[in-house]
Amino acid sequence: MPKPHQSMNGPPDGYYKSMFRANGRIKRTAPKWLHTRQVLSSSFFPSPYTGVADSFRSEVDCALAQLEAMKQVKGGPAYLGTEFGLPDYSDVNEAEIPEQVSTLQDVVADMLELFEGMVNTAHPLSQPNVLPPANKASIIATLFANYFSQNFIEGEYAWNLEKAEMETSAMITRLIPGWDPSKAGGLFTYGGSGCYLYAVKYALAHVLQLHDSRLNGVRTDGKILVSQQGHYAKMNSTDWLGLGMDNIVDIETDDDTNAMDMKDLREKLVELNTNNIPVIAVICTMGTTDAFAIDPVDEVAALLDEFPNPSGYNRPLIYCDAVIGWSFLTFKGYDFSKNPAGITKSISDTIEQIYNKILKIQYADAVGVDFHKTGWVPYATSLFLAKDLPKFKSLMNRPGAVYLNERTEYNPGLYSLEVSRSAAPALSAWATLRYFGLQGFQTTITNVLEMSLCLREILKAEPNMICVNEEDTAFVTLFRVYPDDVDAETRYERELTEDSEEARDLLEESNILQQKTADALWWWLRSGSQIDGMYGPHTTYTSGFRTTDYQDDMGNSRAVIYALKSFPLNVNITYETMLGLVKRVKIARDMVLSGEPIPELPHTPICPPYSVVVPEVGGGKSDAGRTRITDMMSGVVGSRKKRHGRGI
Ligand SMILES: *Cc1c(COP(=O)(O)O)cnc(C)c1O
Repeated sequence: MPKPHQSMNGPPDGYYKSMFRANGRIKRTAPKWLHTRQVLSSSFFPSPYTGVADSFRSEVDCALAQLEAMKQVKGGPAYLGTEFGLPDYSDVNEAEIPEQVSTLQDVVADMLELFEGMVNTAHPLSQPNVLPPANKASIIATLFANYFSQNFIEGEYAWNLEKAEMETSAMITRLIPGWDPSKAGGLFTYGGSGCYLYAVKYALAHVLQLHDSRLNGVRTDGKILVSQQGHYAKMNSTDWLGLGMDNIVDIETDDDTNAMDMKDLREKLVELNTNNIPVIAVICTMGTTDAFAIDPVDEVAALLDEFPNPSGYNRPLIYCDAVIGWSFLTFKGYDFSKNPAGITKSISDTIEQIYNKILKIQYADAVGVDFHKTGWVPYATSLFLAKDLPKFKSLMNRPGAVYLNERTEYNPGLYSLEVSRSAAPALSAWATLRYFGLQGFQTTITNVLEMSLCLREILKAEPNMICVNEEDTAFVTLFRVYPDDVDAETRYERELTEDSEEARDLLEESNILQQKTADALWWWLRSGSQIDGMYGPHTTYTSGFRTTDYQDDMGNSRAVIYALKSFPLNVNITYETMLGLVKRVKIARDMVLSGEPIPELPHTPICPPYSVVVPEVGGGKSDAGRTRITDMMSGVVGSRKKRHGRGI
C-alpha cells in the first residue's frame, strides 16, 4: 500500500510509474494512448498554469492574423477571401471524424476555408438586414468566457461571471421608469425568439396557474393577442409550446402608425370576454423589424383592466417584444431640447418620439432585449427580463438535479429554459454596456438614423427613385427604382391607389423590376465583378412590404409592393457609401432594362438530406405549413377595410 502522501505527490507506483522516465516524460515503450495523451496535454489545451511556456496566445495571434488577412482592402468587395461564388453544400454528408489527431495549424486552415466568401458585416456595402458587426469588447468577452468554459447554469461553476447576467439585468431595468432593480431580473437565452418563448410560457404558467398547466399540459385554448405586424416568433412559440398557432389572434394595425389598433383590440377583447375565452398574453412589439412600429403598451394595459379574464384564470400578461427597440432606452437623460450631441434636428425629434413610446414598456410584465441586434454584440445574446423575477421564479421553479449542489446563492438553472448555458452572451452584453456607455449607444443609433436620412435625401434628388417608407422612422429605408423616363412619384402613387387592370399591370411590372434589380445586385456582389470600378453591395429586397391602398385582403397577391432595402447598421457607412449605393442600384436597373439576361451564378447543389423536398403541409389533416401573407408582411399592411385571416 503506498502511503497517502506518496500517492499525492507522484504517479501511482507500479504499472503507470513504469511508463515514465525520471524526468516525467513518457518512455518510448509506453502504450500508444499515452503518447497521444502527451500530445493532447502538452499542446491541445491552454496550460492550466501561469509561468510555464504556453503557445496559446501566439497561436491565437497567428490564427487571428490569418482571419484578418481575409478581409479586403478599402474599396474592395464586401466578402472575405477570394472565393466569392455561392457556397458549395454538395458533399457535406461525406464528412467523417478523422482517425488521427490533427495539428492546430491544419484545423485553423480548415476553419478559415469556411470563412471564404462570407459576407463581412462590418463592410460599408453590407446593409442587408439587422446584421450588426460585433464590437471588440464583446469579442474579447466571448473568448474569455469560453477560455475556461464555465457553465452558466449556476454560481458554483461560473462564479462571479454570473454577475454579468444580474448586473446587465439591473442596468437595463434602471432604464425603465418604475421598474425596480431589486425586483426585476432576467435570463440570457438563445434569441429574440427565445425571449418570446419565455414570455408565452410565463404567461401560460401565470394565467393557467389554477389549471396546473405545467403538470397537465396546456388544455385551454387561451389566446395570444399580437399585432398583425408582430414578428413571426409568435408562430414559433405558440407552435412549440403546444398552445397552437390557431390561438394567435391578430390585432389590426393603424394605417398611419402601424401600431396595434386599440379599437380592434377592444373589439377582440369584447368578443373573447363574451365567449368566456381567456387571454393568455398581449404581445406589444416595440419596433417591428422593418416599419419600426411601436405598440401603445399603456393603452393595452388600461384595456386589459377593463376586460378581466373569466374566473379561474389570472390576468393576462403583457410582453414587450423590444428586441430591436430597446436600445432607444439608452437615451435616458438625453436633453432633447438642448441636443448637446448636435444630432440633426429631424432625427433628434424622431428619437425623442421613439424614446417616449419605448418608455411605455414600463407597463409590461416582461421585456425581450436582443444585444445581437441593436447592441453590436455577437449572436445569440438576448435577455428575457421579468419585471417581477420572484414571481417568475415561483411559477417556473423546478426541483434541482441530485448532482447539482447549489453551493452559491445564484442558481438560475432551477428556472431557466436551458440547462447548461454559455457565459459568453451575458459577458459580452455586460462588457458592451460598460464599453459603450449611454453615449456610445446614442451615437451608434444616431448614426444609423443619420445614414438612413442621407440615403433618403439622395433618393429625393433622383427622379426615378422613391423612398416608400418615408413615414417610417428609424432604421430601414425601403425604396423603388423605375426606368429613366418614369417619374417615380407619379408612378408609385398610381400603383398604390389605382384599382384598374392597367395600374395592376404597371405595379406588377415594377415589382418585377425591383426583384430583378435586386437579383442583378446580388449577382454583382457574388460574382465578384467590378462595374465602373465598383463592387456590388449586399442589400436585399422585400416582396411583401405592404399592400396597395385598394386591396388588403391579400387574396390577390399581385397587389403588394416590393421594395429594395437598406439597413445601415454599421458605423463604417458614410454619405459616400450611400451615394455609391444609389449609383449601383441605377447601374443594376440598367442591366435589367437593357434586356440582356442577368448572368446566372454558377449553381451549387445541396446534397441529401438537405436537398430532400418536403411537402409544404405539416402532415395529417393539419394545415400547419400554411402561411398567410399578412403573417409575413414586413411593413404597412395597407388599409383594413377587408381583412381576412384567422379570426377568434
Ligand atoms: C428579430 C426579431 C425577433 C426574433 O429575434 P431573434 O433574435 O432573431 O430570435 C423577434 N421580434 C422582433 C421584432 C424582431 O425584430
